[in-house]
Amino acid sequence: MKAIIFKEHGDINRLTLADVPEPTIEPDEVLLHVRACALNHLDIWTRQGMPGVTIPLPHILGCDIAGEVEQIGSEVKGITKGARFVVSPGISCGHCKWCLSGWDSLCDQYKILGFQVDGGYADYVKVPSRNLIPITDRYSWEEWASCPLVFLTAWHMLVTRAQLEKGETILIQAAGSGVGSAAIQIAKTIGAQILTTVGDDKKEEPAKKLGADHVINYKKTDFAKKVRDLTQGQGVHVVLEHIGGETFEKSLASLAKKGRLVTCGVTSGPQIQMDLRFLFVRQHSLLGSFMGGRGELNEVVGLLKQGHLKPVVDTVFPLSEARKAHRRMLDRKNFGKIVLQVNNG
Ligand code: ZN
Repeated sequence: MKAIIFKEHGDINRLTLADVPEPTIEPDEVLLHVRACALNHLDIWTRQGMPGVTIPLPHILGCDIAGEVEQIGSEVKGITKGARFVVSPGISCGHCKWCLSGWDSLCDQYKILGFQVDGGYADYVKVPSRNLIPITDRYSWEEWASCPLVFLTAWHMLVTRAQLEKGETILIQAAGSGVGSAAIQIAKTIGAQILTTVGDDKKEEPAKKLGADHVINYKKTDFAKKVRDLTQGQGVHVVLEHIGGETFEKSLASLAKKGRLVTCGVTSGPQIQMDLRFLFVRQHSLLGSFMGGRGELNEVVGLLKQGHLKPVVDTVFPLSEARKAHRRMLDRKNFGKIVLQVNNG
C-alpha cells in the first residue's frame, strides 16, 4: 500500500511517499480503508521526535481517521465490510479501572494512533474494533476526519474538567486552531459568553461565525488587558489554554476570582513562569486535560450527526502532499483543520 512514512526524526523533508506492506489484523481488530486523515500538532511533535519517547521507525503518522471497513478480525461482531466509521484516536486496554470509568486516557496502556503505533497517512490502517464510531453521510470524508481528536479534546476540557456552565464567560485561545474552533462551538451549545484570540484579522469573521462574542487580535493588543476591559475588570470564569509558554501567564491573569484554567497543550513551548501568590489569593484552579474517553467521543459524534456541532475544515491536500500540509500547520495559516485526502479523488 501507499503511505507517507519517515525513517528518521527531523524536518518536513523526512516525510516521503513509499510502498509498504499492508497491516495484518489481530482477531479483535479491523482493517480500515482510509478515506481521509486530519493533521494535528501531535504529528509535528512525533515527526520531530520527543525526548524520552521511543517511536518505532519507519513510522506512519495520523490519528484522525475516517474510512470504510475492508477486513474484519475473527472475534469482531456486528461490523460489516464497507461500513463507514471515524476512529477514536486513543487505544487503551478496555478493562482497567480507568477504562471502565470512562477515563481511557489515564490507562497505563494508553496509546495514540499515529503516535506510538502506525496511523492513517496510508491506504490502510488497523484499529481495535471498539475504537470505531459509526458515521452518516451528513458530512464528507474530509469533514468527518477533521472531528475526532479536537472535538474529543475540547469536550473533555470544557465539559468534564472545567465544567463550564451556562452564563459563564470563557476565554478560548486561538480560534483558528483545531481545538479552538471545536471549543468555541461546544461553549456556544453550553450557553457561555465567548472571548477568543486570533493572530490575524482575517480569522475574526470565521471565529464570530462559529459563535465567538468577542475576537481579540493578540498581535495588536495585550489580550489579558482586553479581557479585563470586556469583562468590566472581572476576568473570565474559564480559560481554555493550549499554547503554553507564549500565553500562559497572561491566560492566568485573565481569570476572574475563583476561575478555572484548563490546559491540554503547549504549541509554543512547555516552560512557564507564574506568580503563585495570584493563584492562592484569587483561589484559581489549574486543570490538566489529555484526550478523553470513547464514551465522550460517542456523545460528540452524536451532536455532529444532529448538526449541533460542525466540522471546520481549512484545507484539503492529497496524501502525497503531506509536506505542504505540515508546512501550513507550522506557519499557523489555517483556520480549522488541515486534512489529507486518501483514496478519495
Ligand atoms: Zn485500561
